[in-house]
Amino acid sequence: MPAGDPPLTLRDLAEMPVNRLRGVGEKKEKSLAAAEIRTVLDLVQHYPRRHLDRTREAKIADLRKGDEATVFGEVRSSGTRQLRGRRTLTEVVIGDGGHQLTLTFFNQRWREKQLQPGMTLMVHGKCDFFRGNRQMTGPVVDLVGNQTGRIIPVYPQSEKSGLLTRDLQTFIEEALARSSVRGFADPLPDAVLDRFDFVTRNAAIKGIHNPETMAEKDEARRRLVFDELLRVQLELVRRKRRIERETAGLSHSLAGELVDRFHERLPFPLTGAQQRAIGEIGADLALERPMHRLLQGDVGSGKTVVAVTALLAAVQGGHQGALMAPTEVLAEQHHLGVTSMLGDLMVPDPSTLMGDRPLRVELLTNRVGAGDRRKILADLVTGKVDIVIGTHALIQDKVEYASLGVVVIDEQHRFGVEQRAALRDKGDVRAAPDVLVMTATPIPRTAAMTVYGDLDVSVLDELPPGRTPIDTTWARTEDETAGVWSAVRDEVAGGRQAYVVCPLIGESDALDVRSATETHEELSGGELHDLRLALLHGQMPSAEKADVMERFRSGDIDVLIATTVIEVGVDVPNATVMVVLDADRFGIAQLHQLRGRVGRGQAESRCFLVGDPSTGDGEARIEALEASTDGFALAEVDLDLRGEGTIMGERQKGRNDLRLASLVTDREWVGVAREVAMEIIDADPELEAHPELADEIALLLGDDEAEFLMKS
Ligand code: ADP
Ligand code: MG
Repeated sequence: MPAGDPPLTLRDLAEMPVNRLRGVGEKKEKSLAAAEIRTVLDLVQHYPRRHLDRTREAKIADLRKGDEATVFGEVRSSGTRQLRGRRTLTEVVIGDGGHQLTLTFFNQRWREKQLQPGMTLMVHGKCDFFRGNRQMTGPVVDLVGNQTGRIIPVYPQSEKSGLLTRDLQTFIEEALARSSVRGFADPLPDAVLDRFDFVTRNAAIKGIHNPETMAEKDEARRRLVFDELLRVQLELVRRKRRIERETAGLSHSLAGELVDRFHERLPFPLTGAQQRAIGEIGADLALERPMHRLLQGDVGSGKTVVAVTALLAAVQGGHQGALMAPTEVLAEQHHLGVTSMLGDLMVPDPSTLMGDRPLRVELLTNRVGAGDRRKILADLVTGKVDIVIGTHALIQDKVEYASLGVVVIDEQHRFGVEQRAALRDKGDVRAAPDVLVMTATPIPRTAAMTVYGDLDVSVLDELPPGRTPIDTTWARTEDETAGVWSAVRDEVAGGRQAYVVCPLIGESDALDVRSATETHEELSGGELHDLRLALLHGQMPSAEKADVMERFRSGDIDVLIATTVIEVGVDVPNATVMVVLDADRFGIAQLHQLRGRVGRGQAESRCFLVGDPSTGDGEARIEALEASTDGFALAEVDLDLRGEGTIMGERQKGRNDLRLASLVTDREWVGVAREVAMEIIDADPELEAHPELADEIALLLGDDEAEFLMKS
């Protein structure tokens, strides 16, 4: 490349295929593609997972019992033994010079293939002695190859793609060398560089891949993290401001007879957190700008009362409310819960003889019969239905509203962005409805700022009084599992009820249903044969399901055997035992949700997590649930175990520009980036004076992704 050319932009890098690099032939090109690396930009942005500091490594000979240390060594041998049960023990011996260290792994037979004699590894763990030999159990292992530098970058590598850290290093070095003449363009305004004392992009890219010191790496990372966060925030703020400029909303008031009546008839006082959230929502509703608010609260924190208050604000102003749930079952449960909470609430209506009319709440799902459905649809158009509860059926084209004022979306973990956007379009042509999204997944506020785009956040951080703590036990062995069933029988003998949640088999509903059916058969012919059992799953006809739920609620059923359909919404205070089978197949958040089904009454409740996990993560999840009932604390553990995946969720996997930034550990920078983005956008709303930044956003976020981040 001639020296006169301008510095390389990220777009320039994105337009260079990797096969232009020396050493990247057809085979390596395939391997790189398998790791989603197709262009030089992909390669440069394939950041090390971490960096190993060899200046701090220990010699095997120096390890004493209990030392936690990092050791460099060569694999000498490996082998696997069968233990009792289905467990296996894989032992890998590594050595440095004349000394040896045995690495042991339970139920990780694949290690034998992964760690073959002659390979060089870096391992980190706690040293122990077993029969006089040094040993580490379940250490962290990195395949480092023959490295000479003092700081070794460790790249994320997939075993399947056949890419070694060494290959990646060679290619990246080559890419950096080839770019060194022109250098990398820096889109950040000088004022921002100075204010935060950031290194240049040149220094940052070199420093992340090939640092001389850990300090250099840290500075590089700080700069690159900021760039990622700034791009996201610029796009979010730009869109937020656009919406504010362009969309009109309706103004609703919480002050009114209907909302007052509703609060007066509640059998309990609102918690402080509920009052605060209602206040925040009220302020949003009052503006003639559509509300976009996220209501976060742990299971049982009382989100429904808050949501219903918002819906009633719309109704008392002469508009309608809609509540959307992610599944039909959940919609049905919400309908049940909301109608019983509302009772025979009357809407003040001076045009009627009595000055009052009944509030009309309808359920609209695909299972509602054709006749009823037609009627509800017609009455939504004329405004005779005040509140409608359903699934995404609510946003099908056929559904029209007289004036949709407030929409509540119970997201749980399943709702998609597309549905939300469609629902927004359902409003009056002149005004978009106010939107409240409820979620039971605790997310730190700064993270929510990114994940949920421009949603403002309210948090219910206080549980209603009178909850009894849930005692959680892990049953791993057959004996322990037998103990679980006897505990269930004891509780039932004491007049209580229980849930049994069946293993999640996989993607398909049908398989889950079969597993639940089999479990039901096994238990009714075996451990729980003398109890009244019933089966509940998503594929049963609604009427049958409603009947089972009703019989469970009224105490005619002792044990409800179910798929995860009971995850949300079921509220039976007399149920005091929750058994989750193959608990290691569930995520932390889901287990926490499931467990929230008990502990709703005055009696002490218990949760049994049955499972013999084959992975360390599976064990760690169950241990976390045993140790804590605090949703925020569990979310932290989940973050540690799964990283960003927890926050970003499945739907955002692989679709975001946050490669290096962690919404957890870099949360202070999220706030800073947000601030800087607001300054830039408020001075230059469409980034016309910052074409390089605008171009990077277009390149890395794209429309899709930005839509995704906005979500509402
Ligand atoms: P979430 O949806 O946040 O999991 P819910 O709205 O389903 O929680 O409320 C859980 C239970 O707590 C319900 O039985 C509800 O009636 C009750 N509840 C809600 N708010 C209060 C309160 N302020 N005091 C006592 N009980 C409450
Ligand atoms: Mg709820």
